[in-house]
Amino acid sequence: MAVAGVASGIVSSMPSYHTPRGTRDILPSDHAVWTRVETAARDLARRYGYRELDTPLFEQSAVFERGVGAATDIVEKELFRVSPSRGEEREQWALRPEATAGIVRAYVEHGLQTQPQPIRVSLYGPMFRYDRPQAGRYRQFWQWDVEAIGDPGPAVDAEIIELASRFYATVGLTNVEAKLNSIGDSTCRPGYIVALTEYYRPHASALPETERRRLETNPLRLLDSKDERVIELNHDAPKLWDHLCAACSAHFAAVRVHLDALKVPYRLAPDIVRGLDYYSRTTFEFFRPGAEGQQDALGGGGRYDGLVQLLGGKATPAIGFALGIDRVVSAILDGTDDDAARRDRGEGGPLAVVVGADPAATVERLRVATTLRAAGLAVGTDLAQRKLGRQLEAAVKEGARFAIIVGDELADGVVQLRDLGAASQKPVQLSDLASLLRRKAGGG
Ligand code: AMP
Repeated sequence: MAVAGVASGIVSSMPSYHTPRGTRDILPSDHAVWTRVETAARDLARRYGYRELDTPLFEQSAVFERGVGAATDIVEKELFRVSPSRGEEREQWALRPEATAGIVRAYVEHGLQTQPQPIRVSLYGPMFRYDRPQAGRYRQFWQWDVEAIGDPGPAVDAEIIELASRFYATVGLTNVEAKLNSIGDSTCRPGYIVALTEYYRPHASALPETERRRLETNPLRLLDSKDERVIELNHDAPKLWDHLCAACSAHFAAVRVHLDALKVPYRLAPDIVRGLDYYSRTTFEFFRPGAEGQQDALGGGGRYDGLVQLLGGKATPAIGFALGIDRVVSAILDGTDDDAARRDRGEGGPLAVVVGADPAATVERLRVATTLRAAGLAVGTDLAQRKLGRQLEAAVKEGARFAIIVGDELADGVVQLRDLGAASQKPVQLSDLASLLRRKAGGG
Protein backbone atom coordinates (compact mmCIF):
# COMPACT_ATOMS: atom_id res chain seq x y z
CA MET A 1 0.00 0.00 0.00
CA ALA A 2 1.12 3.55 -0.66
CA VAL A 3 1.04 4.43 3.04
CA ALA A 4 3.45 1.63 3.96
CA GLY A 5 5.68 2.65 1.05
CA VAL A 6 5.74 6.26 2.15
CA ALA A 7 6.45 5.24 5.73
CA SER A 8 9.37 3.10 4.71
CA GLY A 9 10.58 5.76 2.32
CA ILE A 10 11.11 3.18 -0.42
CA VAL A 11 8.43 4.15 -2.93
CA SER A 12 7.70 7.73 -1.88
CA SER A 13 8.37 8.93 -5.41
CA MET A 14 5.96 6.39 -6.93
CA PRO A 15 3.13 8.11 -8.79
CA SER A 16 -0.33 7.36 -7.45
CA TYR A 17 -2.54 6.29 -10.31
CA HIS A 18 -6.26 6.90 -10.26
CA THR A 19 -9.32 6.81 -12.50
CA PRO A 20 -9.68 9.86 -14.76
CA ARG A 21 -11.92 12.56 -13.31
CA GLY A 22 -15.59 11.80 -13.85
CA THR A 23 -15.05 8.06 -14.27
CA ARG A 24 -15.40 5.22 -11.78
CA ASP A 25 -14.40 1.63 -11.26
CA ILE A 26 -17.27 -0.74 -10.66
CA LEU A 27 -15.93 -3.02 -7.94
CA PRO A 28 -17.11 -6.58 -7.41
CA SER A 29 -19.10 -5.57 -4.29
CA ASP A 30 -21.41 -3.38 -6.43
CA HIS A 31 -21.18 -5.25 -9.68
CA ALA A 32 -23.98 -7.70 -8.98
CA VAL A 33 -26.44 -4.78 -9.00
CA TRP A 34 -25.08 -3.50 -12.32
CA THR A 35 -25.34 -6.96 -13.81
CA ARG A 36 -28.89 -7.45 -12.57
CA VAL A 37 -29.94 -4.11 -14.09
CA GLU A 38 -28.27 -4.93 -17.39
CA THR A 39 -29.84 -8.39 -17.50
CA ALA A 40 -33.27 -6.88 -16.82
CA ALA A 41 -32.82 -4.40 -19.68
CA ARG A 42 -31.66 -7.02 -22.16
CA ASP A 43 -34.41 -9.40 -21.14
CA LEU A 44 -37.10 -6.73 -21.53
CA ALA A 45 -35.71 -5.69 -24.92
CA ARG A 46 -35.96 -9.29 -26.08
CA ARG A 47 -39.50 -9.69 -24.74
CA TYR A 48 -40.66 -6.51 -26.45
CA GLY A 49 -39.02 -7.42 -29.76
CA TYR A 50 -36.16 -4.89 -29.67
CA ARG A 51 -33.04 -6.54 -31.12
CA GLU A 52 -29.55 -5.57 -30.07
CA LEU A 53 -27.46 -3.27 -32.19
CA ASP A 54 -24.02 -1.99 -31.22
CA THR A 55 -22.23 0.97 -32.70
CA PRO A 56 -18.59 2.02 -32.16
CA LEU A 57 -17.80 3.98 -29.01
CA PHE A 58 -16.56 6.80 -31.28
CA GLU A 59 -17.92 8.25 -34.51
CA GLN A 60 -17.12 11.04 -36.89
CA SER A 61 -17.82 14.18 -34.85
CA ALA A 62 -20.17 15.37 -37.58
CA VAL A 63 -22.58 12.53 -36.76
CA PHE A 64 -23.14 14.19 -33.38
CA GLU A 65 -22.76 17.79 -34.51
CA ARG A 66 -25.44 17.24 -37.09
CA GLY A 67 -27.43 14.49 -35.42
CA VAL A 68 -27.58 15.92 -31.92
CA GLY A 69 -27.40 19.56 -32.94
CA ALA A 70 -24.64 22.14 -32.85
CA ALA A 71 -26.57 24.44 -30.47
CA THR A 72 -26.99 21.81 -27.76
CA ASP A 73 -24.98 21.51 -24.55
CA ILE A 74 -23.98 18.01 -25.59
CA VAL A 75 -22.15 19.24 -28.67
CA GLU A 76 -21.32 22.78 -27.64
CA LYS A 77 -19.85 22.00 -24.23
CA GLU A 78 -19.69 18.29 -23.62
CA LEU A 79 -18.48 16.54 -26.76
CA PHE A 80 -15.50 14.34 -25.89
CA ARG A 81 -13.35 14.86 -28.96
CA VAL A 82 -10.56 12.39 -29.69
CA SER A 83 -7.80 12.73 -32.18
CA PRO A 84 -5.34 9.98 -33.05
CA SER A 85 -1.82 10.77 -31.92
CA ARG A 86 -0.35 9.39 -35.13
CA GLY A 87 -1.35 7.93 -38.47
CA GLU A 88 -2.82 9.52 -41.51
CA GLU A 89 -6.39 9.79 -40.35
CA ARG A 90 -7.85 13.17 -41.07
CA GLU A 91 -11.24 12.39 -39.54
CA GLN A 92 -12.47 14.35 -36.56
CA TRP A 93 -13.78 11.88 -34.05
CA ALA A 94 -15.73 12.08 -30.84
CA LEU A 95 -16.69 9.53 -28.20
CA ARG A 96 -20.41 8.91 -28.38
CA PRO A 97 -22.34 11.20 -25.99
CA GLU A 98 -25.58 9.30 -26.62
CA ALA A 99 -26.69 6.40 -28.77
CA THR A 100 -29.43 7.68 -31.06
CA ALA A 101 -27.29 9.55 -33.60
CA GLY A 102 -24.97 6.55 -34.06
CA ILE A 103 -27.90 4.14 -34.39
CA VAL A 104 -29.52 6.35 -37.02
CA ARG A 105 -26.16 6.64 -38.82
CA ALA A 106 -26.05 2.80 -38.85
CA TYR A 107 -29.68 2.62 -40.03
CA VAL A 108 -28.86 4.84 -43.01
CA GLU A 109 -25.42 3.33 -43.70
CA HIS A 110 -26.71 -0.25 -43.83
CA GLY A 111 -29.92 0.54 -45.70
CA LEU A 112 -32.11 -0.76 -42.86
CA GLN A 113 -35.02 1.24 -44.30
CA THR A 114 -35.42 -1.49 -46.93
CA GLN A 115 -36.27 -4.02 -44.18
CA PRO A 116 -39.78 -4.29 -42.73
CA GLN A 117 -40.44 -1.20 -40.60
CA PRO A 118 -40.24 -0.27 -37.86
CA ILE A 119 -36.72 -1.38 -36.96
CA ARG A 120 -36.82 -2.01 -33.22
CA VAL A 121 -33.36 -1.90 -31.67
CA SER A 122 -31.74 -1.80 -28.24
CA LEU A 123 -28.23 -0.72 -27.26
CA TYR A 124 -26.68 -1.02 -23.82
CA GLY A 125 -23.30 0.55 -23.12
CA PRO A 126 -21.12 3.43 -22.01
CA MET A 127 -21.54 7.03 -23.22
CA PHE A 128 -19.10 9.91 -22.76
CA ARG A 129 -19.65 13.58 -22.06
CA TYR A 130 -16.85 15.97 -21.25
CA ASP A 131 -18.87 17.87 -18.68
CA ARG A 132 -17.89 19.12 -15.23
CA PRO A 133 -18.33 16.02 -13.07
CA GLN A 134 -20.71 16.31 -10.13
CA ALA A 135 -23.15 14.12 -8.21
CA GLY A 136 -24.96 11.87 -10.70
CA ARG A 137 -23.05 13.34 -13.63
CA TYR A 138 -20.05 11.47 -14.96
CA ARG A 139 -17.79 11.69 -17.97
CA GLN A 140 -18.32 8.01 -18.65
CA PHE A 141 -21.76 6.69 -17.81
CA TRP A 142 -24.01 3.91 -18.99
CA GLN A 143 -27.28 4.11 -20.87
CA TRP A 144 -29.86 1.63 -22.01
CA ASP A 145 -31.13 2.94 -25.29
CA VAL A 146 -34.16 1.70 -27.22
CA GLU A 147 -35.32 2.95 -30.61
CA ALA A 148 -38.25 2.18 -32.94
CA ILE A 149 -37.38 3.62 -36.36
CA GLY A 150 -39.99 3.79 -39.12
CA ASP A 151 -43.28 4.08 -37.19
CA PRO A 152 -45.10 7.43 -36.91
CA GLY A 153 -46.97 6.38 -33.74
CA PRO A 154 -48.91 7.16 -31.64
CA ALA A 155 -49.20 3.53 -30.44
CA VAL A 156 -45.45 2.85 -30.56
CA ASP A 157 -44.87 5.99 -28.47
CA ALA A 158 -46.92 4.38 -25.72
CA GLU A 159 -45.17 1.02 -26.20
CA ILE A 160 -41.79 2.67 -25.64
CA ILE A 161 -42.88 4.67 -22.58
CA GLU A 162 -44.51 1.60 -21.07
CA LEU A 163 -41.32 -0.40 -21.70
CA ALA A 164 -39.23 2.18 -19.82
CA SER A 165 -41.74 2.21 -16.94
CA ARG A 166 -41.65 -1.57 -16.76
CA PHE A 167 -37.87 -1.52 -16.62
CA TYR A 168 -37.89 0.73 -13.54
CA ALA A 169 -40.49 -1.45 -11.84
CA THR A 170 -38.57 -4.61 -12.77
CA VAL A 171 -35.33 -3.41 -11.15
CA GLY A 172 -37.22 -2.46 -8.00
CA LEU A 173 -37.75 1.30 -8.44
CA THR A 174 -41.48 1.27 -7.97
CA ASN A 175 -42.29 4.97 -7.69
CA VAL A 176 -40.81 6.29 -10.93
CA GLU A 177 -43.05 8.68 -12.80
CA ALA A 178 -43.05 9.62 -16.49
CA LYS A 179 -43.38 13.32 -17.31
CA LEU A 180 -44.94 13.70 -20.73
CA ASN A 181 -45.06 16.54 -23.20
CA SER A 182 -45.51 17.26 -26.90
CA ILE A 183 -43.21 19.82 -28.49
CA GLY A 184 -45.07 19.92 -31.80
CA ASP A 185 -43.47 19.59 -35.21
CA SER A 186 -42.12 21.75 -38.00
CA THR A 187 -45.66 22.95 -38.78
CA CYS A 188 -46.54 24.36 -35.39
CA ARG A 189 -43.30 24.74 -33.43
CA PRO A 190 -41.88 27.69 -35.42
CA GLY A 191 -45.00 29.77 -34.62
CA TYR A 192 -44.71 28.82 -30.97
CA ILE A 193 -41.02 29.73 -30.88
CA VAL A 194 -41.88 33.17 -32.25
CA ALA A 195 -44.49 33.63 -29.50
CA LEU A 196 -42.07 32.34 -26.87
CA THR A 197 -39.22 34.57 -28.05
CA GLU A 198 -41.53 37.60 -28.01
CA TYR A 199 -42.56 36.73 -24.48
CA TYR A 200 -38.97 36.53 -23.18
CA ARG A 201 -37.56 39.41 -25.25
CA PRO A 202 -38.59 42.31 -22.95
CA HIS A 203 -36.89 40.47 -20.04
CA ALA A 204 -33.72 39.56 -21.96
CA SER A 205 -31.48 42.19 -20.42
CA ALA A 206 -32.23 40.80 -16.95
CA LEU A 207 -31.25 37.27 -17.96
CA PRO A 208 -27.83 35.68 -17.47
CA GLU A 209 -25.54 35.43 -20.47
CA THR A 210 -26.22 31.72 -21.26
CA GLU A 211 -29.96 32.22 -21.17
CA ARG A 212 -29.69 35.29 -23.41
CA ARG A 213 -27.70 33.24 -25.88
CA ARG A 214 -30.23 30.42 -25.74
CA LEU A 215 -32.96 32.90 -26.51
CA GLU A 216 -31.26 33.41 -29.86
CA THR A 217 -30.13 29.84 -30.62
CA ASN A 218 -32.60 27.47 -28.94
CA PRO A 219 -35.36 29.36 -27.05
CA LEU A 220 -37.15 26.12 -26.08
CA ARG A 221 -34.24 25.42 -23.73
CA LEU A 222 -35.34 28.34 -21.53
CA LEU A 223 -38.36 26.26 -20.59
CA ASP A 224 -36.17 23.79 -18.68
CA SER A 225 -33.78 26.45 -17.39
CA LYS A 226 -32.51 26.14 -13.81
CA ASP A 227 -32.14 29.91 -13.43
CA GLU A 228 -34.47 31.32 -10.77
CA ARG A 229 -35.46 34.35 -12.87
CA VAL A 230 -36.31 32.17 -15.86
CA ILE A 231 -38.24 29.71 -13.70
CA GLU A 232 -40.28 32.65 -12.41
CA LEU A 233 -40.87 33.92 -15.96
CA ASN A 234 -41.88 30.45 -17.14
CA HIS A 235 -45.03 30.44 -14.99
CA ASP A 236 -46.71 32.76 -17.49
CA ALA A 237 -44.86 31.73 -20.64
CA PRO A 238 -47.04 30.73 -23.60
CA LYS A 239 -47.77 27.00 -23.56
CA LEU A 240 -46.85 24.89 -26.54
CA TRP A 241 -50.01 22.87 -26.01
CA ASP A 242 -52.02 25.96 -27.00
CA HIS A 243 -50.04 26.18 -30.25
CA LEU A 244 -50.07 22.55 -31.41
CA CYS A 245 -51.43 22.05 -34.94
CA ALA A 246 -54.40 19.71 -35.37
CA ALA A 247 -52.21 16.75 -36.36
CA CYS A 248 -49.84 17.16 -33.37
CA SER A 249 -52.81 17.66 -31.01
CA ALA A 250 -54.46 14.48 -32.23
CA HIS A 251 -51.16 12.58 -31.93
CA PHE A 252 -50.61 13.83 -28.35
CA ALA A 253 -54.18 12.89 -27.36
CA ALA A 254 -53.82 9.43 -28.88
CA VAL A 255 -50.53 8.77 -27.06
CA ARG A 256 -52.35 9.55 -23.80
CA VAL A 257 -55.28 7.28 -24.69
CA HIS A 258 -52.82 4.42 -25.24
CA LEU A 259 -50.91 5.13 -22.01
CA ASP A 260 -54.17 5.27 -20.06
CA ALA A 261 -55.24 1.96 -21.55
CA LEU A 262 -51.92 0.41 -20.49
CA LYS A 263 -52.25 2.01 -17.02
CA VAL A 264 -48.84 3.68 -17.30
CA PRO A 265 -48.53 6.40 -14.65
CA TYR A 266 -47.53 9.74 -16.19
CA ARG A 267 -47.90 13.45 -15.60
CA LEU A 268 -48.25 16.16 -18.25
CA ALA A 269 -45.28 18.53 -17.98
CA PRO A 270 -44.76 21.45 -20.38
CA ASP A 271 -41.13 21.84 -19.25
CA ILE A 272 -39.99 18.53 -20.75
CA VAL A 273 -38.53 19.95 -23.96
CA ARG A 274 -35.33 17.87 -24.03
CA GLY A 275 -32.07 19.57 -24.84
CA LEU A 276 -31.58 18.07 -28.27
CA ASP A 277 -32.54 19.57 -31.60
CA TYR A 278 -33.90 16.45 -33.13
CA TYR A 279 -37.05 15.93 -31.09
CA SER A 280 -40.60 16.44 -32.34
CA ARG A 281 -44.03 15.74 -30.85
CA THR A 282 -43.74 13.27 -27.96
CA THR A 283 -41.07 13.97 -25.32
CA PHE A 284 -40.80 12.38 -21.88
CA GLU A 285 -38.51 12.01 -18.90
CA PHE A 286 -38.53 9.80 -15.82
CA PHE A 287 -38.15 10.98 -12.25
CA ARG A 288 -38.64 9.78 -8.73
CA PRO A 289 -41.03 12.06 -6.86
CA GLY A 290 -39.11 14.68 -4.92
CA ALA A 291 -36.09 14.41 -7.24
CA GLU A 292 -37.11 16.41 -10.23
CA GLY A 293 -34.10 18.51 -11.18
CA GLN A 294 -32.40 17.88 -14.50
CA GLN A 295 -29.55 16.27 -12.58
CA ASP A 296 -32.01 13.78 -11.17
CA ALA A 297 -33.66 12.60 -14.39
CA LEU A 298 -33.42 8.83 -14.52
CA GLY A 299 -34.00 8.75 -18.25
CA GLY A 300 -35.78 10.37 -21.11
CA GLY A 301 -36.59 10.25 -24.75
CA GLY A 302 -38.91 11.28 -27.47
CA ARG A 303 -39.90 11.25 -31.09
CA TYR A 304 -37.37 12.41 -33.66
CA ASP A 305 -39.11 12.36 -37.01
CA GLY A 306 -36.49 14.55 -38.73
CA LEU A 307 -33.25 12.83 -37.71
CA VAL A 308 -32.99 10.05 -40.32
CA GLN A 309 -33.24 12.63 -43.08
CA LEU A 310 -30.80 14.91 -41.31
CA LEU A 311 -28.22 12.10 -41.39
CA GLY A 312 -28.70 11.37 -45.07
CA GLY A 313 -31.62 8.93 -45.17
CA LYS A 314 -35.12 9.47 -46.44
CA ALA A 315 -37.69 11.06 -44.15
CA THR A 316 -38.51 8.42 -41.51
CA PRO A 317 -40.48 8.84 -38.28
CA ALA A 318 -38.84 7.40 -35.16
CA ILE A 319 -38.96 7.38 -31.38
CA GLY A 320 -36.69 6.17 -28.60
CA PHE A 321 -35.44 6.52 -25.05
CA ALA A 322 -32.14 6.57 -23.17
CA LEU A 323 -32.21 5.52 -19.54
CA GLY A 324 -29.31 6.48 -17.28
CA ILE A 325 -28.05 3.30 -15.64
CA ASP A 326 -25.64 4.96 -13.15
CA ARG A 327 -28.54 6.81 -11.55
CA VAL A 328 -30.70 3.69 -11.50
CA VAL A 329 -27.93 1.71 -9.81
CA SER A 330 -27.30 4.40 -7.20
CA ALA A 331 -31.04 4.65 -6.50
CA ILE A 332 -31.06 0.89 -5.92
CA LEU A 333 -27.94 0.97 -3.75
CA ASP A 334 -29.24 3.98 -1.78
CA GLY A 335 -32.42 2.16 -0.92
CA THR A 336 -30.85 0.37 2.03
CA ASP A 337 -34.13 -1.23 2.94
CA ASP A 338 -34.50 -2.46 -0.62
CA ASP A 339 -34.48 -6.26 -0.39
CA ALA A 340 -33.30 -6.75 -3.93
CA ALA A 341 -30.22 -4.58 -3.31
CA ARG A 342 -29.32 -6.52 -0.19
CA ARG A 343 -29.84 -9.79 -1.99
CA ASP A 344 -27.61 -8.58 -4.81
CA ARG A 345 -24.77 -7.80 -2.46
CA GLY A 346 -24.77 -11.43 -1.34
CA GLU A 347 -24.94 -12.63 -4.92
CA GLY A 348 -22.03 -13.28 -7.16
CA GLY A 349 -20.22 -15.53 -4.65
CA PRO A 350 -19.50 -19.15 -5.56
CA LEU A 351 -21.86 -21.98 -4.67
CA ALA A 352 -18.94 -23.90 -3.17
CA VAL A 353 -15.25 -23.45 -2.50
CA VAL A 354 -12.79 -26.32 -2.77
CA VAL A 355 -10.47 -26.31 0.24
CA GLY A 356 -7.72 -28.67 1.28
CA ALA A 357 -6.89 -30.53 4.46
CA ASP A 358 -3.30 -30.54 3.20
CA PRO A 359 -2.42 -26.92 2.44
CA ALA A 360 0.24 -28.01 -0.06
CA ALA A 361 -2.11 -30.21 -2.15
CA THR A 362 -3.09 -27.51 -4.63
CA VAL A 363 -3.04 -29.84 -7.64
CA GLU A 364 -5.86 -31.94 -6.13
CA ARG A 365 -7.93 -28.88 -5.16
CA LEU A 366 -7.58 -27.36 -8.59
CA ARG A 367 -8.45 -30.66 -10.27
CA VAL A 368 -11.68 -31.08 -8.29
CA ALA A 369 -12.67 -27.44 -8.89
CA THR A 370 -11.91 -27.72 -12.61
CA THR A 371 -14.10 -30.81 -12.99
CA LEU A 372 -17.03 -29.05 -11.27
CA ARG A 373 -16.56 -25.86 -13.31
CA ALA A 374 -16.52 -27.90 -16.51
CA ALA A 375 -19.84 -29.35 -15.34
CA GLY A 376 -21.23 -25.79 -15.24
CA LEU A 377 -21.07 -25.04 -11.51
CA ALA A 378 -19.79 -21.81 -9.92
CA VAL A 379 -17.02 -23.17 -7.75
CA GLY A 380 -14.19 -21.27 -6.10
CA THR A 381 -10.92 -22.75 -5.02
CA ASP A 382 -8.70 -21.70 -2.17
CA LEU A 383 -5.12 -22.14 -3.32
CA ALA A 384 -3.53 -20.38 -0.38
CA GLN A 385 -1.12 -22.53 1.55
CA ARG A 386 -2.81 -22.01 4.89
CA LYS A 387 -4.60 -24.06 7.53
CA LEU A 388 -7.96 -25.63 6.71
CA GLY A 389 -9.70 -23.51 9.38
CA ARG A 390 -8.55 -20.30 7.68
CA GLN A 391 -9.63 -21.60 4.30
CA LEU A 392 -13.12 -22.35 5.65
CA GLU A 393 -13.39 -18.89 7.20
CA ALA A 394 -12.48 -17.33 3.85
CA ALA A 395 -15.13 -19.45 2.09
CA VAL A 396 -17.81 -18.18 4.49
CA LYS A 397 -16.69 -14.58 3.88
CA GLU A 398 -16.94 -15.08 0.14
CA GLY A 399 -20.59 -16.04 0.59
CA ALA A 400 -20.19 -19.70 -0.43
CA ARG A 401 -22.87 -22.12 0.75
CA PHE A 402 -20.61 -25.17 0.74
CA ALA A 403 -17.00 -26.15 1.15
CA ILE A 404 -15.61 -29.21 -0.58
CA ILE A 405 -12.80 -30.54 1.57
CA VAL A 406 -10.20 -32.46 -0.34
CA GLY A 407 -8.07 -34.82 1.77
CA ASP A 408 -6.49 -38.27 1.70
CA GLU A 409 -9.82 -39.93 0.83
CA LEU A 410 -9.53 -38.42 -2.62
CA ALA A 411 -7.47 -41.51 -3.48
CA ASP A 412 -10.75 -43.45 -3.04
CA GLY A 413 -12.72 -40.87 -5.01
CA VAL A 414 -14.29 -39.33 -1.91
CA VAL A 415 -14.41 -35.70 -0.62
CA GLN A 416 -16.20 -34.09 2.34
CA LEU A 417 -19.08 -31.78 1.49
CA ARG A 418 -19.50 -29.22 4.25
CA ASP A 419 -22.66 -27.14 4.56
CA LEU A 420 -21.19 -23.85 5.79
CA GLY A 421 -24.53 -22.56 7.10
CA ALA A 422 -25.36 -25.69 9.09
CA ALA A 423 -21.70 -26.43 9.97
CA SER A 424 -22.31 -30.10 9.14
CA GLN A 425 -20.47 -32.30 6.69
CA LYS A 426 -20.65 -35.70 5.03
CA PRO A 427 -18.54 -37.79 2.66
CA VAL A 428 -19.58 -37.68 -0.99
CA GLN A 429 -18.39 -39.70 -3.96
CA LEU A 430 -16.58 -37.41 -6.37
CA SER A 431 -18.62 -38.87 -9.21
CA ASP A 432 -21.88 -37.78 -7.47
CA LEU A 433 -20.63 -34.34 -6.46
CA ALA A 434 -21.67 -32.30 -9.52
CA SER A 435 -25.23 -33.60 -9.62
CA LEU A 436 -25.61 -33.27 -5.84
CA LEU A 437 -24.40 -29.64 -5.92
CA ARG A 438 -26.63 -28.86 -8.87
CA ARG A 439 -29.65 -30.15 -6.91
CA LYS A 440 -28.65 -28.05 -3.90
CA ALA A 441 -28.11 -24.96 -6.07
CA GLY A 442 -31.65 -25.45 -7.39
CA GLY A 443 -32.92 -25.38 -3.80
CA GLY A 444 -33.18 -29.20 -3.51
P1 AMP B 1 -30.19 12.66 -21.86
O1 AMP B 1 -30.45 12.10 -23.22
O2 AMP B 1 -29.08 13.64 -21.78
O3 AMP B 1 -31.45 13.17 -21.20
O4 AMP B 1 -29.71 11.42 -21.01
C1 AMP B 1 -30.60 10.39 -20.66
C2 AMP B 1 -30.30 9.92 -19.27
O5 AMP B 1 -28.94 9.53 -19.18
C3 AMP B 1 -30.45 11.01 -18.22
O6 AMP B 1 -31.78 11.09 -17.78
C4 AMP B 1 -29.51 10.54 -17.13
O7 AMP B 1 -30.14 9.58 -16.30
C5 AMP B 1 -28.42 9.85 -17.90
N1 AMP B 1 -27.26 10.76 -18.05
C6 AMP B 1 -27.09 11.75 -18.94
N2 AMP B 1 -25.90 12.35 -18.80
C7 AMP B 1 -25.30 11.72 -17.75
C8 AMP B 1 -24.03 11.88 -17.09
N3 AMP B 1 -23.12 12.77 -17.49
N4 AMP B 1 -23.75 11.05 -16.06
C9 AMP B 1 -24.64 10.12 -15.64
N5 AMP B 1 -25.84 9.93 -16.23
C10 AMP B 1 -26.17 10.72 -17.27
